[in-house]
Amino acid sequence: MKTLFAPSTVGRAKGEFAWTDPGEPLTFFPPCDRAESCGCNRSLPGAYSTKGTTVGIVKEAPVDEHHTRMTWAEAWNSEETGRRAVADIHKLARAVDAFPMGTVLKFTVTAGGVKFRRIVREPRFRK
Ligand SMILES: [Zn+2]
Repeated sequence: MKTLFAPSTVGRAKGEFAWTDPGEPLTFFPPCDRAESCGCNRSLPGAYSTKGTTVGIVKEAPVDEHHTRMTWAEAWNSEETGRRAVADIHKLARAVDAFPMGTVLKFTVTAGGVKFRRIVREPRFRK
């Protein structure tokens, strides 16, 4: 599927993070009440890890929908949350379809959806 995937590295920019597993597909979760400090208003969760990244890459790769559904259903003890996590991968896929492969995006996340901001190159992590 062509959709958004977690980066393999994270950039040097302040506030950037990628607690996701490298290359896993991304899904959606609405920001919490502490979004300013926790960063969930500018990150999307990995479909398998449920952890957030502030950067996503548009590419074509396999998506394990069963694994996603089971992971989210178990994490939230909710079949509905599992189904929604899979549906949101497809929604993200439609939203980013117009971007060329390899496009790197940052996010502004609200309960109502995601706005994308394109960044020029894949970030690198350096200590
Ligand atoms: Zn949060």
